[in-house]
Parts: sequence; structure tokens; C-alpha cells
Amino acid sequence: MTEVSRVVAPNPGPYTGPGTNTWIVGAGPVVVVIDPGPDDDAHLAALNKRLSGKTVGVVLVTHGHPDHLPLAERFARQFQATVQRYPELGDGDIVRAGTLNLTALYTPGHSADHLCFLLAEDRAIFTGDLVLGQGSSMVTYPEGDVAAYLRSLDRLAALQPRILFPGHWDPVTEAAAKIAEYKKHRLEREAQILAEVNRGGGTAPELTRRVYGELDDKLMVAAEMTLRAHLKKLVDEGVVRENGEVYQASVI
Ligand SMILES: [Zn+2]
Repeated sequence: MTEVSRVVAPNPGPYTGPGTNTWIVGAGPVVVVIDPGPDDDAHLAALNKRLSGKTVGVVLVTHGHPDHLPLAERFARQFQATVQRYPELGDGDIVRAGTLNLTALYTPGHSADHLCFLLAEDRAIFTGDLVLGQGSSMVTYPEGDVAAYLRSLDRLAALQPRILFPGHWDPVTEAAAKIAEYKKHRLEREAQILAEVNRGGGTAPELTRRVYGELDDKLMVAAEMTLRAHLKKLVDEGVVRENGEVYQASVI
């Protein structure tokens, strides 16, 4: 088994849980680091301390969101390592560093630039924000894509991973069950949104309140974004139509 450890970035919050997981893959002397996280001096110092003399061969980034990417270049420069992410890194590309081989999996949905990284010999997948250790992942709008998100979950499931190392919260050993739970949650949410639209049209903020109930402001922003992403899929599929700001059931 490849040694995997993490340093949690000091950026806890409603979207990031206890903070972003920066993963260190391999026992050294050459390691791969995934998602250096926010550009934060204390996090950089904590990472360097944990590495204690190991060399970073490659820095990988699952996606360009501000809780995953900003420290990457500054961190990598210390080791003259390259930062690799989508689109320079594409589906199926293999990243080699020391004795490690990681395969990039293009897994859009949460964001359009999302990659997961597979450690094939261990059947371990670094899932970024596609699957989290806890709660559900948001689908951003307009760059996210619910249909793509569901396909990305199927893709992960087909690889039959043994363990998931998510971008936030703890590793997941019940990988198949967790992926199935995520898919079920998204499909249930979609059914709920469609039922609400069929009950009577509304704007995205109105529908968000009807579907999610009262949430605090920050979570409401995430909920509305995910709802808009769901509505886009339903509009693309022709079951919902847009009438100005209002979403209505399609009448055939
Ligand atoms: Zn994140």
C-alpha cells in the first residue's frame, strides 16, 4: 500500500468542512502532493514541516477553485516541481514521480475542469470535490453540470475503488456505498425540483426556498447554484422550460 497522509488547510467553512485536504502521496524520497490549497503562510509552513526533507516530484490539482489551487505554484517552486491540472492534464494521462504512477480521470460536474487521480495498484482515488467525506458536494453554476456530474460518479463506481481520498473531510473506505449515496442524493434532488416546478413555476430563488427550506445565507447561495445547475439539465432534457426568470413545466 502506498503511504498517504494529509495536512488540512486552515480554511474551515460552509463549503470546505474542516478545511481543504492537501494529500501527500508516497513514502519518499519523492512524493506527489495533491491540492496544495489556499495561499496561506501557515499552511505552507505546515506542509514543509510534514515533508521534512522529502522531494516533491509533481504537484497535482483537482480543480481551480480557491480552496484547492492558489498555493500550488508557490509551493511547487520550492522543489522545482511542475503543477499539473486540467486541461494540460487530460483523461487517462499518467503522471510519474519517483516510483509513483497516478492516472488522471477527467470528472467534470462539480466544476468543468475537475480531475480525480487514481492510484491504480491500490485502487485508491483522490476525488477532489466530486465526492466528499461527508455531506454532499455542490454543483456550481454555470460552469458545473449535473448530467456530467452523474456520469463522473458512474465512472468512479466502475473503477471499483477500495478507498477514496476526498478534498474535504475524512477518507472513505466504503467507497461503493458512498458513490451510490451521492448518486441517489442527486437524483432525489432532481426529482424534488421537478416535482416543485410541476406544482407551479417559480424563479430560481423561489424554487430554492421551496425545495431547501430556510438556510443561512451562505448555504442558500450554494443551494441556489446547485438548483440552477439541476434546472439547466431539466431544460436541456425538455421537461422544464424557461419563461424569462420563471421556470415552468413544459407543456407538450
Ligand atoms: Zn473544495
